[in-house]
Amino acid sequence: MDLFQLKCEECGRGYGNAPLVVCEDCFAPLRIEYDLERVRERVSRGQIESRPSDIWRYRELLPLPAGHERGLPVGFTPLLRAPRLGSRIGSGDLWLKDDAACFPTLSFKDRVVAVALAQAQAFGFQVVGCASTGNLGNALAAQAARLGLEAWIFLPVDLEPAKVVASAVYGAHLVQVDGTYDQVNRLCAEICESRPWGFVNVNLRAYYAEGSKSVGFEIAEQLGWRLPDNVVVPMAGGAQITRIARSFAELVETGLVEPHPVRVFGAQAEGCSPIAGAVSQSEPEIRPQDPRTICRSLSIGNPADGYDALRAIHASGGWAGTATDSEIVDGMRTLAEEEGVFGETAAGVTVTVAARLLAEGRIGAGETTVLCLTGNGLKTVDPLARAFPPQPVLAPQLDAFEARLGVPAGVA
Ligand SMILES: *Cc1c(COP(=O)(O)O)cnc(C)c1O
Ligand SMILES: [Zn+2]
Repeated sequence: MDLFQLKCEECGRGYGNAPLVVCEDCFAPLRIEYDLERVRERVSRGQIESRPSDIWRYRELLPLPAGHERGLPVGFTPLLRAPRLGSRIGSGDLWLKDDAACFPTLSFKDRVVAVALAQAQAFGFQVVGCASTGNLGNALAAQAARLGLEAWIFLPVDLEPAKVVASAVYGAHLVQVDGTYDQVNRLCAEICESRPWGFVNVNLRAYYAEGSKSVGFEIAEQLGWRLPDNVVVPMAGGAQITRIARSFAELVETGLVEPHPVRVFGAQAEGCSPIAGAVSQSEPEIRPQDPRTICRSLSIGNPADGYDALRAIHASGGWAGTATDSEIVDGMRTLAEEEGVFGETAAGVTVTVAARLLAEGRIGAGETTVLCLTGNGLKTVDPLARAFPPQPVLAPQLDAFEARLGVPAGVA
């Protein structure tokens, strides 16, 4: 057997490795399960450190096909200390995991696509597709082009123009659907049943989701093979937060880090908060919503991994929070002003929620806290336009500049 296989969450039936979605017996989703005993015998810190700096250095803990050759240098993004933002929001040990700088398309979706396409090729798919809120389409279009695969990207109509162009430029087929992401996703599930296509977040979803674990592996390694106390993660479908939590558990189970409890905290926009809204309920129920927020990347009203995300949050002792549209813009500005990092709207959500969790005492000031910044602000400039209206234009003369300053030279 491989080191991993698909397994039903409910009944435990194993399926080997194949582009399958749910269990034939109980219709529960299939997840990847590893033989961690055997992985433990095969990996060590030193071996991982000797490999190139990208997600493939953790290959024993990713569901890659046998004989897989290292792909694009995706991941291993900077983990930055954030002392200025930390003192502004009340943390003495704050860090930023900066996937705004992820290769090749500036979001953490590059990680999940890289893993899904490794399996798509092994399964023999010539055509790949996805339902996307923007970043996933960008990542799939770019990596499919690189691998010579045909890509179909299905999008809801109201996405940021930069994210539409950043899929189209790679020659992908773009289908803009008159509906919400959840309607787009349902359409993709139907297409997937009638065509021999690999949809990264439908029939390859189990493999796709595992790519998110690389965020957690990198955080631990970059902290010196140590687990943080808290991570704050933006949530759309809920896969990333679930797999980051899982990644820490796997590092402990394979002996790569010392056991240490990590609390995972989820962040959503107030206008699309089905998971965050359920966190405080005694019998949590995720009620699908119609998204209304400037944060399009997190606009999934019916999250596929919602209950898993809730379980991960509760099991860790974490919590969740939301940000309004104006708080999202403020969060983006604060992050940029304090740390020189331009994150997208999802980063504005994460910064806002982290500040609130610190203010409420749910996160302690002295604890090691990592904020996951998952995408680049250059893709979502539109909501900032109102915050930065055009400035009056200056004549190209020194006295004009001094008049603007209102102070003669040499005085200030
Ligand atoms: C997709 C996305 C997320 C959320 O990922 P899920 O795994 O669906 O919860 C977070 N941030 C950005 C920028 C994204 O594009
Ligand atoms: Zn089953």
